[in-house]
Amino acid sequence: MLNLVIFGPPGAGKGTQSQNLIDKYNLAHISTGDIFRAHIKNDTELGKKVKELLANGILVPDSVTISMLEEEVKKNPDAKGFIFDGFPRTVPQAEALDAFLKQNNTSISTVIALDVNQDELKKRIAERKKIENRADDSEDKLMKRIDEYFTKTIHVLPYYEKQGKLNSINGIGKVEDIFDKISKAIDKVI
Ligand code: AMP
Repeated sequence: MLNLVIFGPPGAGKGTQSQNLIDKYNLAHISTGDIFRAHIKNDTELGKKVKELLANGILVPDSVTISMLEEEVKKNPDAKGFIFDGFPRTVPQAEALDAFLKQNNTSISTVIALDVNQDELKKRIAERKKIENRADDSEDKLMKRIDEYFTKTIHVLPYYEKQGKLNSINGIGKVEDIFDKISKAIDKVI
């Protein structure tokens, strides 16, 4: 099984590169942000619980996120592998993911971290806001989301570095060139 984590701050290109990876490696895509947004749209119990958090760019508590993630994995028993996009965002989430995959006799194959600086991120998110009109991308929430990344999520990188699974890839440049580098990192582990 090929299990990838795609990692990076909001606006780093995780969504775009995930789509390329799904097409090339035939993986099931699990984006916790997309799943939360779907729950909000469908006004589910979970959606009601997380609506305010997403609107304010604050991380959803680990317990809620981890159970939701595990449910999503279980919904795809025939998957050849997974791409985890936007998860894990904290060390406890990374530990829970490792434990869960181990129970299922599999593990994370490799981690792709897209490296993009804050100025570039702000530029990209402003552009995306124009196109998608995402509720959590308003200007004042942008800094909160980036802040959550640089204060909480960034600590996940050393966790995977210690496991020898971290591939930091410059996320600035042409989408195809970045994808080429990502593919090379993945091809080393398959
Ligand atoms: P994203 O689309 O991945 O940027 O996620 C949008 C929002 O969903 C985040 O700002 C968080 O509020 C929430 N979220 C998504 N994934 C996670 C996660 N792994 N842990 C906690 N909150 C998350």
